[in-house]
Amino acid sequence: MTGKTHQIIGQVVGVGLLVSLSDSTYHPATGAAALVACSIVSLLPDIDTPAAKIWHYLPFGLGKVGGQIVNPFLQHRNLTHSLLGAALVGSILWQLATRVPVYWGINAFFVWSIAMAAYLSHLLADAVTVDGIPLLFPLQRSFGFPPHPFQGLRIETGKWFENFIVYPLTVCTLIGLFIIKWAVIHALFFL
Ligand SMILES: [Zn+2]
Repeated sequence: MTGKTHQIIGQVVGVGLLVSLSDSTYHPATGAAALVACSIVSLLPDIDTPAAKIWHYLPFGLGKVGGQIVNPFLQHRNLTHSLLGAALVGSILWQLATRVPVYWGINAFFVWSIAMAAYLSHLLADAVTVDGIPLLFPLQRSFGFPPHPFQGLRIETGKWFENFIVYPLTVCTLIGLFIIKWAVIHALFFL
């Protein structure tokens, strides 16, 4: 999938989990941190691609430089698209989450959990594309859904099915979540 689709899927996962699991005692900073985290972390597996959307977030052309540095070390859809990569990224993000000052009022475990769900949503979304993902890296075998011999039903990244079906439906889901769960979102951020 392309960056924009991964990001909107990550936001649906983030908002969905936020409105389902958040506690009314949570500080608004927890909700805000969770939404920012799922928007960024949903793009993280594609740091192995110099042109990936996540590199565009870095200022002063640093993204271009970073993409070029990382690329020789990580082939696209390799370590970062595997369970091993998810575990490594998860442990790094946990170290970051636990360093957030307590007085910010952020529930670190809650935000980390939502961020990791967004990361896994990226792997799932790529698993339904033609190339699949190397889920058990360093084993090179690619996993995807539907499996062989039905792989012809998988989605082509950046083509019509993603752009005209998957992306618009996911945007509608996000808008629907905001409308249906507005009372919860309002209570979380504004009360
Ligand atoms: Zn990817």
